[in-house]
Amino acid sequence: MLMLMFELLSMAERSTKASQSKSGPEPHVGIFWLLDGTLLTDSTPLDQAEPYGDHLTHPRSHIDVWDSWQRLGKVPVDVPYEEPPRGRVVFNRKTSQSELLADKCILERKSVVAEITNGLGLPKNVTLGSDSHYRCSKCLFGSDTEEEWDD
Ligand SMILES: [Zn+2]
Repeated sequence: MLMLMFELLSMAERSTKASQSKSGPEPHVGIFWLLDGTLLTDSTPLDQAEPYGDHLTHPRSHIDVWDSWQRLGKVPVDVPYEEPPRGRVVFNRKTSQSELLADKCILERKSVVAEITNGLGLPKNVTLGSDSHYRCSKCLFGSDTEEEWDD
């Protein structure tokens, strides 16, 4: 048992050193929304992330964070958490890569993706993906009248 723990520790040390020398600060995991063109994020450094299967993930849910932001007045109380485009950054422990899962409305905007990757200290080659959980009202119901650039 002691041997195993020692091995795990030295593995952790090695991977930490490797990622530090490669890309500066340790990557974060987190969740985010794009509310009226403004990116809102809540993130955690990897060493405080929560294991979830093969991944490390943010310990707080979209619902909990949105709820607390509503109480703080950071976001409007009449906007439900699942309405604006949103997403999540997780860390895949098998591939040692960060993965960014988000609504199409976010993935198609390169500047917003760059803002997320910079903000969370992610490498440029982060894996991007959409996720059926992360579809805003517009994606689900296709209300073209609410496009920002229309007004
Ligand atoms: Zn969308």
